[in-house]
Amino acid sequence: MALVVQKYGGSSVATPEKLRAAARRAVRQREAGHQVVVVVSAVGDQTDELIALAKELHPEPDPREMDMLMAVGEQMSVALMAIAIQSLGQGAVSLTGAQAGIRTDSVFSKARIKTIDTSRLWRELEHGRIVIVAGFQGVDAGENVTTIGRGGSDATAIALAAVLKADRCDIFTDVDGIYTADPRIVPNARKLDRVDYDEVLELASLGARVMHSRAVEIAKRFDVAFRVRPSDGESEGTLVTNVEDIEQVDVCGAALETNEAKVTIRDVPDKPGAAATIFGEISRNHVNVDMIVQNVSADGRTDLSFTVLKTDVPAARRTAEALSAEIGAGAVELDEDVAKVSVVGVGMKSHTGVAAKMFDALAREKINIEMISTSEIKLSVVVRGGDGEPALRAVHDAFELENG
Ligand code: ADP
Ligand code: ASP
Ligand code: MG
Repeated sequence: MALVVQKYGGSSVATPEKLRAAARRAVRQREAGHQVVVVVSAVGDQTDELIALAKELHPEPDPREMDMLMAVGEQMSVALMAIAIQSLGQGAVSLTGAQAGIRTDSVFSKARIKTIDTSRLWRELEHGRIVIVAGFQGVDAGENVTTIGRGGSDATAIALAAVLKADRCDIFTDVDGIYTADPRIVPNARKLDRVDYDEVLELASLGARVMHSRAVEIAKRFDVAFRVRPSDGESEGTLVTNVEDIEQVDVCGAALETNEAKVTIRDVPDKPGAAATIFGEISRNHVNVDMIVQNVSADGRTDLSFTVLKTDVPAARRTAEALSAEIGAGAVELDEDVAKVSVVGVGMKSHTGVAAKMFDALAREKINIEMISTSEIKLSVVVRGGDGEPALRAVHDAFELENG
């Protein structure tokens, strides 16, 4: 008997037929004698719809109430999944994040899972039931409902697989696996059969929404090998694990992020401590800063630009404006029409010429680069929003990612 964790994303449970197909797949595992935990996302675009509803009432809804609201989506889909499984004659029970013992910190909308008390989960499994857990949610020490970040059901599934020491963890979604780039934007993208945690972690944190980045972080930390598989087929998809190839290719994939905005603070006094003050305060407001560019200073002043998630723009703007007044800087400008294109590969650290090849591909498409950031295993550029998709295709072609 094995313990199997299956996760179904929103589009994989979007209609009663799809729900039933997912239910059948879970029941097949149970009938094969395995213990089965199913993690489900909200159906279809329900989370977006809930957010839109709140925004009709308030431009900046209270974060606690937003989490309470967003968690409704998953609560509905777990109950529907339990009903679908029961209709097939199999015992099943649905649990909210709190009922499943998932404790988080209190940072609403991007809470982190702290502990999982598995006693209820084991009790239900020992009764032979399929246990269906609401993805994306937990509860904090004050019993407030929290959510763990958009796309976070992946993290719920991997965290459960880790604490339950699952023998198998399958992430079912609407593509056949992890590709060298989003196959909806790059038609000749190639499906990867096996890929290293670090590469998926980079791709995910750089915008490839096929996996939630914190999910991959947890997988790597607890060595939870998992598969990303199509919910509408039998393909084994992509195995994500520790891949220790002797020779590694320089670039294994490319990603596009359209969910970031660029914030510029003009005329920042160019003196020690300015950046520390600005980014210290921004991080105290739980805004994650991604790329940072400081221009060459002139007359003792410099422009400072950085990117943040679009959802963090109101908080970033508020903080930047207050800081600017405090330190005697100039205007704060926001630019939401940007896109970030990145190439990723653990082999990059030992290959030269990656940056030149990427910049050359963009130059040939006459795409202007506004910001650049590099690490050992990734290279990212910020471009105009409309240049994002052509840039992704150009870079994918330049590195010939379609050929394995
Ligand atoms: P789910 O609802 O199942 O969690 P998501 O919409 O979050 O599904 O993620 C699946 C989507 O991720 C795909 O439809 C695809 O457009 C997108 N995607 C982005 N980058 C990649 C990639 N490198 N490989 C596969 N899919 C990708
Ligand atoms: N329903 C949540 C979202 O749309 C979580 C998820 O899909 O994983 O972000
Ligand atoms: Mg997802």
